[in-house]
Amino acid sequence: MDYPLSDWQHPGFRERIRPRRLAILGATGSIGRSTLELVRLFPDALRVVAITAHRNVQGVIEWIRTVGPKYVVLTDPAAADRLRGAIGDQYPDLQIWSGTQALRTVATLPEIDTVISAIVGAAGLEPTLCALRAGKRVCLANKESLVIGGALIRQTLREHSGCIIPVDSEHSALFQVMLGEDRQSIERLWLTASGGPFLHRPLETFDAITVEEALRHPRWKMGPKITIDSATLMNKGLEIVEAHYLFDWPIERIEVVIHPQSIVHSMIEFVDGAFKAQMSLPDMRLPILYALTYPERWTVPVPRWQPGNASVLEFFPPEERRFPCLWLARRAIQAGPSYTIALNAANEVAVQAFLQGQIRFTEIAPLIDAVLQQHIGQPVHTLEDIWAVDRWARAVAQQWIRSRMEEKSFR
Ligand code: NAD
Ligand code: MG
Repeated sequence: MDYPLSDWQHPGFRERIRPRRLAILGATGSIGRSTLELVRLFPDALRVVAITAHRNVQGVIEWIRTVGPKYVVLTDPAAADRLRGAIGDQYPDLQIWSGTQALRTVATLPEIDTVISAIVGAAGLEPTLCALRAGKRVCLANKESLVIGGALIRQTLREHSGCIIPVDSEHSALFQVMLGEDRQSIERLWLTASGGPFLHRPLETFDAITVEEALRHPRWKMGPKITIDSATLMNKGLEIVEAHYLFDWPIERIEVVIHPQSIVHSMIEFVDGAFKAQMSLPDMRLPILYALTYPERWTVPVPRWQPGNASVLEFFPPEERRFPCLWLARRAIQAGPSYTIALNAANEVAVQAFLQGQIRFTEIAPLIDAVLQQHIGQPVHTLEDIWAVDRWARAVAQQWIRSRMEEKSFR
């Protein structure tokens, strides 16, 4: 067997299409902008047909000026109106749509073969499912869609001709090192984590962590949500679930190790004790390009890792007291799928509340824990089941924040 995702062996995996015709969901974000840089490097091989964003009109205008998509979706209707006003009649062939239904429409357009799924959060799930049902190659950055809808996504992959190539750097690394290997010969998957900005910060100062400090990631420049998730290590918890569904791999055989230099993007451990790792400088353009071009590799002018100049590569285990969110995530995963949905929703609410100054950094984990404690597990089969748990967990999380804010204002 030469493909790691054993029951996903659709022809789409190996298709060499040139040019690739893309829909980029979440085009104005960090992954979206890295994709734009690649599109500018390979204008003949990568053609942008459609882009989407939530309400970032300026970001969308940059795409319209540089690569000229045919369809633009702004999910926020007011933003779509602002865009129409801003560009007037300069682009008569451009179609501007709004609303979440339009996201699903562009993900399934017959003129596209490839979708970059780079919306942040649970909002990425439905367009990802639609693209897979329509037989597209999905280059998946939106890990939350697998965290909440992993079982549904796997079922969709079995029933339709779409395929997923991971974009998340750790999962791209695992995909690459698992190629050509027999699953039986692999004992464990090892996800590496940079440890974020607070790896060495004294624990007794964690209460004073500011939003600016938490947004200053030492290795990667990413959107705000994943940057906070990287500071709490919830990101690695979500990535354990992502690996579990992507590779159909048991959670107990997925390990996390801190590796501050972010050169080794992940590794597999074989039954004989040998390890195989994937390495490069941390640069999201590499896993994005690989997901677009697999099974090919294209020459790309980005800075390269120089083994001769490398000083030290460190690896050590994460500490529970420093990163409680990683343990919360593991507990939720072991408790069952509805707990993972509640975990994700509570985390989205907690991160937003921290960014808005409503709660402290050290309140993120207790908030999520409180939601998980109140959750009663339930079967999850349909999208409606997923959204019911998601809505419940968001409401409980909001209630927790309100009562905490009231307590503080009484003090
Ligand atoms: P970001 O915040 O920079 O960008 C998010 C994009 O999604 C924007 O274009 C925004 O307009 C759009 N968006 C936000 N909310 C939306 C909604 N409700 N409906 C429709 N569109 C919406 O995020 P990012 O850092 O680019 O991350 C995107 C996804 O990729 C996340 O799931 C993240 O975990 C994953 N990821 C990112 C990186 C990275 O380096 N940034 C690495 C690995 C994985
Ligand atoms: Mg990652």
